[in-house]
Amino acid sequence: MPLPAYDLTGRTAFVTGAASGIGRATAALLAQAGAAVHCADVDEKGLHDTRTLIIDAGGTATTHTLDVTDRDQVHHVVETAIRAGGPLHILAAIAGIMHTSPVLETRDEDLDRVLSVNFRGVLYACQAAARSMIASGTGGSIITMASGAVDAAQPGLLCYSASKAAVVQLTKTLATELGPHAIRVNAIAPGWIRTPMTDRHDAQQQQKAEAAMVRQSPLGRVGEPEDIAHAVLHLASDASSFTTGQIFRPNGGVAMPW
Ligand code: NAD
Repeated sequence: MPLPAYDLTGRTAFVTGAASGIGRATAALLAQAGAAVHCADVDEKGLHDTRTLIIDAGGTATTHTLDVTDRDQVHHVVETAIRAGGPLHILAAIAGIMHTSPVLETRDEDLDRVLSVNFRGVLYACQAAARSMIASGTGGSIITMASGAVDAAQPGLLCYSASKAAVVQLTKTLATELGPHAIRVNAIAPGWIRTPMTDRHDAQQQQKAEAAMVRQSPLGRVGEPEDIAHAVLHLASDASSFTTGQIFRPNGGVAMPW
């Protein structure tokens, strides 16, 4: 018998970035916890595979091809999802991209692209979901995806870490504005997670990169997408009903900020 506080039966979740990595694992876990899950991503094939994974496990999922950088598209898709499946209770805004370039070589188009996907994409999804949660009066939980990059400076990571710092500020600001509507807003700042985003496409390079992370972690390992999916489940569920405006750091202990 599942713990009632973690039971999402009767709830509806909208997950962006659901075609791969952390988003896929999150969509699958929320469905396993009982939620009906709207899976959204630009990657149609990946979305199809996520839906199959969920349906085969006995869950409920629908797919929505979506570019999160397009404000009108985001609002349209969220509205379509609500019309078909009823009010949203959970948003997990996970879609994101990585970019590395030294500051002195960073072009306007690099900055624009990363901010568009990682910040504006999260903002648009939060706006669309929150409007629906306020209108339906059901309350809800919004989870955004920041990164451990907000806790440490690293060469080449300006665009990415700035976009994730913006996500943190969005999360805290929204928490103050949406609390009176019983909508909680929290961010997750993962450490190194083994996904296509961190795949070096070269076994030796991969081993080297992961070994560096393992050395920094008291737990002596890198993370898996399921580690983050469980953090999302906690923040999505009633188990975290007194938690809002917080940054949750499943990072293997690599960083321990106040
Ligand atoms: P991933 O590349 O496996 O998944 C990212 C997903 O986002 C993909 O399915 C991709 O198609 C989708 N996406 C990209 N641009 C999009 C757009 N414009 N519209 C809709 N969907 C789009 O990467 P991941 O590691 O699973 O990353 C998920 C999130 O977690 C990202 O926000 C990432 O920044 C964050 N994160 C990852 C790590 C890590 O170590 N993997 C660490 C910290 C934070």
